[in-house]
Amino acid sequence: MTDTGVRPAETAAERTDRDRLYIDGAWTPSAGGGRIEVRSASTEEVIGTVPEGTPEDVDRAVRAAHRAFPAWSQTSVEERAAFLQAINLGLASRIDEIARLIASEVGMPLTMSTAIQAGLPVMTSGQMAQLVRDFAFEEEIGNSLVVREPVGVVGCITPWNYPLHQVVNKVAPALAAGCTVVLKPSEVAPFTAFVLAEIVAEAKLPPGVFNLVTGTGPVVGEAIVTHPLVDAISFTGSTRAGKRIAELAASGVKRVTLEMGGKSPNVILDDADLEKAVRSGVNNAFLNSGQTCTALTRMLVPRHKQAEAERIAADQAAKLTLGDPFDESSRLGPLVSDVQRDRVRGYIRRGVEEGARLVVGGADAPAGLQRGYYVQPTIFADVRPDMTIAQEEIFGPVLSIIPYDTEEEAVRIANDTVYGLAGAVWSGDPARAERVARRLRTGQVDVNGGRFNPMAPFGGFKQSGVGRELGRYGLEEFLEVKSLQR
Ligand code: NAD
Repeated sequence: MTDTGVRPAETAAERTDRDRLYIDGAWTPSAGGGRIEVRSASTEEVIGTVPEGTPEDVDRAVRAAHRAFPAWSQTSVEERAAFLQAINLGLASRIDEIARLIASEVGMPLTMSTAIQAGLPVMTSGQMAQLVRDFAFEEEIGNSLVVREPVGVVGCITPWNYPLHQVVNKVAPALAAGCTVVLKPSEVAPFTAFVLAEIVAEAKLPPGVFNLVTGTGPVVGEAIVTHPLVDAISFTGSTRAGKRIAELAASGVKRVTLEMGGKSPNVILDDADLEKAVRSGVNNAFLNSGQTCTALTRMLVPRHKQAEAERIAADQAAKLTLGDPFDESSRLGPLVSDVQRDRVRGYIRRGVEEGARLVVGGADAPAGLQRGYYVQPTIFADVRPDMTIAQEEIFGPVLSIIPYDTEEEAVRIANDTVYGLAGAVWSGDPARAERVARRLRTGQVDVNGGRFNPMAPFGGFKQSGVGRELGRYGLEEFLEVKSLQR
């Protein structure tokens, strides 16, 4: 074996074959016989299968959720919080298994997968148990009592990049609110949704409160969105699929929450600590090999500091060892699939064709990594805001350094895409940083390296989304408001 950092597959998760869906409190076969194969991101081998659900499965699941709703919606907050706590403990007890499954299917290095992919859902489910206890479900406005009630049956549709985190971001607040759920996880990374279903079953949630149907977006996803007994859809994924879901949901006047793509700017002002800002920005852009919706993929630097920024960025990228997710030295793993790898390499070629200057990386396969969906961490400089790589979400380890001349121009460039999910601002003057942060048309902005806060609202402006997840704002997405005049 060459010195690739690739270790044999016995360190990966065991093969996982799931042959049943979880509907109405029971593990039950799909009405169709189809199976979906799931591949390892690092070996390209099939590591298991899940049922390819059908519209009949969706119908059974939605009817079960509909039947369960009246009783579940009337449970006390304390009862629901206790179930969430049981789910939280269940997830915590299976952290290692969850991390290994995601390291295999998605390819995020195991140590990071443990902390982030497995750790975050534990944290958010625990926080939701407490938050719902403290939440003010009622308020008085004049002669009215305003009450918040669960919206009903919720369809949750999720992507593959943080597969369990995105599931728990929806399922925990939905259950806390008193809604019942039909979940369709990504067919690319579906395994941890089954772990959650097992935990739900062990917690003895009443039948029908939580249902799991795996399958493809156009079949199972659309059957959920168009089912007349589904009241609301909570979707995370691409802007393309989100638009389709919004169109379909409109005919049933369903409430829709959409968490979609991004092309987030990292605005480094001329008085910032360049070294810190650039190193942090590179780490952020390449987290999960760039497959993060909030990735700061556009680094805006003062033109006279571009050369220095490039040098620091290249140095930081070199520290992020690319390799097998089960090798402890790996900081970057492969991309999730061949489709994703080919798409990202296509964007790198496009960047070169459009005249961006390659600082590190490129479209060729990384040396020594013949197997697995690897892409070289790639940095472009002299990127113009109108180039494809500065406008479209790439969802891979590709960073664009964009030079600017004035603060005004930086703000204009930062806001000049169809997206508005995240952003960052760096300045030596915190008040200036905050002033610029307020001008970014994005749902969240990290100021001088501010950390991710799982209790703060998360979501997008413009084509990055509708609605918010996490914390109190995430809970409110699953509540209707009713006023009683007295
Ligand atoms: P995707 O849109 O292909 O799939 C997401 C989910 O939607 C999957 O479960 C899929 O089966 C389903 N789906 C696809 N077409 C559908 C349809 N017509 N009807 C119903 N369901 C359908 O996205 P992906 O490739 O899994 O994930 C990557 C995308 O997700 C990126 O664009 C990324 O930015 C975005 N994302 C956004 C956030 C956020 O919070 N804003 C978080 C993570 C990922």
